[in-house]
Amino acid sequence: MAHTRKSLIAGTLIAAALIAWACAFCLGCADPADDAARAFNDSQAWYASLPETTERLDRIVVVRIRAFGSEDDKQRAWAAAHPQFGPAAAGVCISSEVPEIWVDLRRAGGRLVLPPHILGHEMMHAAALYDQRLVDPDRLIDPKLYAGG
Ligand SMILES: [Zn+2]
Repeated sequence: MAHTRKSLIAGTLIAAALIAWACAFCLGCADPADDAARAFNDSQAWYASLPETTERLDRIVVVRIRAFGSEDDKQRAWAAAHPQFGPAAAGVCISSEVPEIWVDLRRAGGRLVLPPHILGHEMMHAAALYDQRLVDPDRLIDPKLYAGG
């Protein structure tokens, strides 16, 4: 009987270890949508930690969004529109008469999906064209350049 109890305990420990291993394995295979949601929340937590201000911003910002589901298609259109530049990055803001934002385009759940992080970044560039008080969002990316000022 004691031997059976030891076997039961050992079996339970092995099962618990397997469950823990399986959970750890599953965490390593997280859905990329969960990672995107976590990144969004992390970004918002950073933003919310910045000091509040008494200033206000009330601007109409008009942009032309040019989004492409195919990288080849985007590069062809980019080269035709702006032959003076090299290949387009994942997101670009051009300060033309109506600022253009060039981004990638994907599909999920039967709807088109713009890249929220890129669109936000490029929209900050476009808004800064209208209001010089706004930070250049590139300063927020490189910590060597961004010192909170
Ligand atoms: Zn930028």
